[in-house]
Order: sequence, then C-alpha cells, then structure tokens
Amino acid sequence: MKAPLIAICRHRMATDGQGVTTLVAFHGCPLSCRYCLNPQCTDTDGVWQRMDAEEILQTVAVDDLYFQATGGGVTFGGGEPLLHSDTIADFCQRCPPQWNITVETSLNVPTDQLAKVAPYVSHYLVDIKDMNPDIYRRYTLRDNRQVAENLQWLASNVGPQHVTVRLPQIPGYNTPDDIAASRCQLEALGFSHFNVFDYIAPKAEKKAASNLKQLLDLRSRFGKVAIIVAASAGLLGTPAYGQNRKATKSVAAKKGVKPTRPEMVIGRTGGVPRNDTQTKARAFNIPYRPGESNKENRVYDVVEEMPNFPGGTATLMEFVKNEMNYPEAAKKKNVQGRVIVTFIVEKDGRVTNAKVAKSLDPLLDAEALRIVGKMPRWNPGRQNGVAVRVKYTIPVTFRLP
Ligand code: SF4
Repeated sequence: MKAPLIAICRHRMATDGQGVTTLVAFHGCPLSCRYCLNPQCTDTDGVWQRMDAEEILQTVAVDDLYFQATGGGVTFGGGEPLLHSDTIADFCQRCPPQWNITVETSLNVPTDQLAKVAPYVSHYLVDIKDMNPDIYRRYTLRDNRQVAENLQWLASNVGPQHVTVRLPQIPGYNTPDDIAASRCQLEALGFSHFNVFDYIAPKAEKKAASNLKQLLDLRSRFGKVAIIVAASAGLLGTPAYGQNRKATKSVAAKKGVKPTRPEMVIGRTGGVPRNDTQTKARAFNIPYRPGESNKENRVYDVVEEMPNFPGGTATLMEFVKNEMNYPEAAKKKNVQGRVIVTFIVEKDGRVTNAKVAKSLDPLLDAEALRIVGKMPRWNPGRQNGVAVRVKYTIPVTFRLP
C-alpha cells in the first residue's frame, strides 16, 4: 500500500537520533496544533509523493554506508507517522537490521498502531505538548487520553529508556510550572529522558521564516557548511527530496545562483570526486589530516569497501540467532530489546575491541559481547584496494517468544 509523504530529508546530524539519519516525513496528522510548523502535513495539497515500503527503502538505501558507519538510520516523522504503521513495519522487515529506526510521534493514535512498529523501533521521540488535558485540548483541539494510555503502554512494553519525551513551552498555553507538573507525571511512569524547549512565539514566526530563507540561500551557495549550521540548529535537514527542495531552488533562482543538487552534497563537496577520502571526512565532519591514511593503525569509520561477514548480512543474523543463549534471569525479568555493539574488523578480518555502545541490561550486554567474540573472521574493509582497520556497529536483538 502506498503512503503519502511530504518529504525525504537526507544527511541529518544531531537532530533526531544518533549518527547520520534520513527523515521520512508522512502526510497526515490527527492534531490541529495552534503553531504547527509543518502545515503541509494537513494541507490537501501537501502530498509530495506516494510510496510503498519497498520504494521508500530503495530511495533511502543510497545512504546505507553512512547509516552503518555512524550507527544512524531512518527516522519516521511527519505529520503523524504512526498513522502509517503498516508501511513502517513493512519497511523495517525489509531494511538492514543494522539501521536504527526512530519514530517521532504525538502518540495520539490507537495503541495497536503503536504495537505494530514496536518490534522494530530503537527509539521514540514523543512530543506530548502538555500532560494537562485542558492545555492539550486548547492547543491541539483533541483530548489526550490516548496519549496517556500509549505512554503507559510504552513504559510497560518497550521500556522508558527507549523514549525521549519532548516537553515544549508553548507561548500562551503553558508555563514552566505546567511543564514541571507534566514532567512529574512522566517520571512517575518511569520516563527519565526529557527534552524541554521553547516553541517559537507567534511574533517570532516571521523572523523564523526569514532565518530559514537565509539558511536555504546559504546552503545553495555554500552547500554543506550551511547544512551543518541548520542541522545543529535543528531547523532543517538536507532536503534530498520533497518540498524543501523546491524552496532551495526558488531562492537560488532569485539570486541567480545555480543551486547545489541536494543529492550531490554528500560525496561531492566543491566538485571533488565521490571516492576522495578528504571529501568523505568532510561529509561526516570527521577531522581530515593529510597523510593520516598512511598510518598503519588508523581505524576508519568509512572506507570504499566496507568489511562484511562471510556469507553476507543474512548469514550474520543467522549466526547471531544460532549463537544466542538468552540468559534465564533476563527471561524471568522479561527483558528484551536491542544491544548495540561496536567493534573493529582488523586487516586480517579478526573482530577486536568489542564494546557496548547502547546498553539494554547487564546480562544481555554480556551475552551480546560473547556472541560478537565468537564471530569468525570477516572479509576486511578496503581503502584504495588495501585492507584497513574499520570500526563496525551491529545490533544484537533479544526477543522473547
Ligand atoms: S502534531 Fe506536528 S504536524 Fe501535527 S498539527 Fe501538531 S505540529 Fe502540526
């Protein structure tokens, strides 16, 4: 089934999840927020394209290397992505298991929509607006009973550690005391990751629009530099596709500047060829030091030919499944989820320096490290045809029947 999208934004950093992420933004939202910053989500003309899970996968897979090298992946947002849970679940069954999947949601959807994606999602970014039902209703024109139910469901079934709750201060609607009261209720449910921030006040909206236009102009002239500024300000990602791309084009056209093709931003900075090491270092904001590539012991994050498990990804997942001894104590506690492990694939294919990058439970962390320690030699990564040391990240997923 094809789902309506408003945009696919590539190469986001430090905005919504670890590593390099691509935002897949869906059309449609059950809320009517007073200060909606994505009005195209509910506009009848707001749909950019309709795609099914396979088409979305084919589109975002161009950044597979970057996702795997940085521990990034795909963030589903919108609008309300959980209105399209079937598409998201279908996508997650097709995508490489190494990709981290994040969902940005208001949680104002039926719980079964949430449950459909739960087996695949690494992290949830939940914008609750405010826990006070009156404030919520005034601001969104909906009630928040479903949000409260879904928060409870997440706390019980997924674990509060996989959830970041956004607590906005909304001008004219709530106060710091209201936010403190919301936080108190959420802490009682076990949540501890919060992101408190200010929504843009109505008077500031015009200024923000002007700032955004300036950023788009900067990006069309300076490419990545402007994108990094914008991304770290949380204002925009690289609009590879969708409506922001049109905005880039129109601003550039007015200035008489040839716009940078967004899909060329990573891998081609200033006309340098795609495979150039310096370009890749810039693209990932990794300091580039001339001559460093000659150092024998350098550990690379990204190389031309990434290391791979003998037999490929499917064999790797089979290996992990066959080796896994689910600790009895963890079974009794009903602990399940993903442990993210990083390690180095040496020049001769040995796996060394395994570490837990994202912990789940001490017992399951230890089991994940044990499994990684039993891996056979990999096919090493190569740079300029020469075997090099490469850092690699995999998720080890623990699921109870
Ligand atoms: S939840 Fe987001 S997209 Fe939906 S109306 Fe509110 S601000 Fe707009």
